[in-house]
Amino acid sequence: MRNYRKELWFETRSRREFVNITGEVEKCVQESRITEGLVLVNAMHITASVFINDNESGLHMDFERWLEKLAPEKPYSQYEHNGYEDNADAHLKRTIMGREVVVAITEGRLDFGPWEQIFYGEFDGKRKKRVLVKIIGE
Ligand code: ZN
Repeated sequence: MRNYRKELWFETRSRREFVNITGEVEKCVQESRITEGLVLVNAMHITASVFINDNESGLHMDFERWLEKLAPEKPYSQYEHNGYEDNADAHLKRTIMGREVVVAITEGRLDFGPWEQIFYGEFDGKRKKRVLVKIIGE
């Protein structure tokens, strides 16, 4: 069995952002030269997510509005966590959107359904943060 590990770095300009990272994950699969296996992609921070969904801007706005209804950023004082920090909403949003995805690799390619794309979901950005890509297989 072969294995491969890489960290992808992000620094978004705004506090919240969705970044399509499908191309970068595909590049990792090519680099790994693993043709049959699994790729794990996970946020290495507890205020960011990795998730799979449609690459459609309206849907991304819907996610933003839905998450703001569930866990509004402000007022900061509504959260117990926000004594020293102001990112309680980001921890909650990350938990809803998930930590990681696992995708099958078949014949050297990501074995996706028709509309599946991989996204990095940032909920407390404007600083350097990482995503781990781990691939195992042969
Ligand atoms: Zn925090």
